[in-house]
Amino acid sequence: MSGRLLTPSKITAWLDCAHFFTLKNRVEDDLMATPRTQFGLFAKLLAEKGLQHEADCLAEYGRQGKTVLEVPARERGETFEAWVDRVGNPFEHGWDVIYQMPFIHHGIRGIADFVVRVQDADTGVVTYEPVDAKLARLEAKPGHVLQLCFYADAIKAVTGVRPRQMHLWLGSGNVESLTLAEFRPYWNRLRGKLFGLLADDSTEGATVPEPCPHCTFCEFFDHCTQQWRDDDVLHFVAGIRHPEPTVLKAGDVSTLAELAALQTAVEGVRPERLARLVDQATLPVVARLQAEGEPPPHRMIEASDDPVWGRGFEQLPEPNDGDVFLDFEGHPFWRADTGLVLALLTLLWVV
Ligand code: SF4
Repeated sequence: MSGRLLTPSKITAWLDCAHFFTLKNRVEDDLMATPRTQFGLFAKLLAEKGLQHEADCLAEYGRQGKTVLEVPARERGETFEAWVDRVGNPFEHGWDVIYQMPFIHHGIRGIADFVVRVQDADTGVVTYEPVDAKLARLEAKPGHVLQLCFYADAIKAVTGVRPRQMHLWLGSGNVESLTLAEFRPYWNRLRGKLFGLLADDSTEGATVPEPCPHCTFCEFFDHCTQQWRDDDVLHFVAGIRHPEPTVLKAGDVSTLAELAALQTAVEGVRPERLARLVDQATLPVVARLQAEGEPPPHRMIEASDDPVWGRGFEQLPEPNDGDVFLDFEGHPFWRADTGLVLALLTLLWVV
């Protein structure tokens, strides 16, 4: 386990998925190969938007007339440790803003987007406070706060002065400020737990992959998908909702094939709902038994007054080559100051 590392992004991923931590440890212990990352279109779009947001924040500091040190990038073949040594302690030169500051502290390493000089108006004491640029529009997520706590600790280790506040420059353009002292106890407790996991050599098999919000951005997505396929998991049933796989498993229905063949009731699932799930499971099970080239199995949904299932495609207008499907509420980058038109253009670009 000597090669195991903690990074802020690993901690954030762990908050969403314990299995990520298990797999990451296995890679670092050379028990499995580093996955070849192939991010989907949406993940790539998010990454690009994240970089753009960071660049916008950097430009804004320039517009405010602040002196900005852009830390020289890590060189090819250079270890993270050597990079940190080379960068040294730029705080003593009085920069207003330090961009992309690398830290190693207490067994964790990470790169702070911005570290900003703050002078107390009463005491004159200078501190540096971490600022992370995040696409979240409304508020900080737990992982963001923990990352900032790590940067704050690392800043204290270099400068000798603990930051009082830490900040998130949100995708909306607003800056959310947080008081470090309110979050440090939680961070300290969690860090202890993480180091326990990092030192635990018996994690193999202790976690299982469960679909979660992090999957879209996860380097192990292909690996987990293969395991889900091999295990024939219930998550692949179209329209299945979060607690239903667990309820079905409690009723001894653990795979798609078992659900498709089900002929008895399952406690905790309404009969109409169960019939719907069995139907949905049957289609892929039939499809995989078909010969190549056969049309995919399907079942017509009867039009009825059922508000969810009764309205079939017959209510749609005739298809047209110019059809565009939009979900305005779901657009992650809508901002009041840039307006819906720009958001619409972004979405069309993705399509
Ligand atoms: S793909 Fe999903 S389940 Fe698998 S490790 Fe990543 S986040 Fe966890």
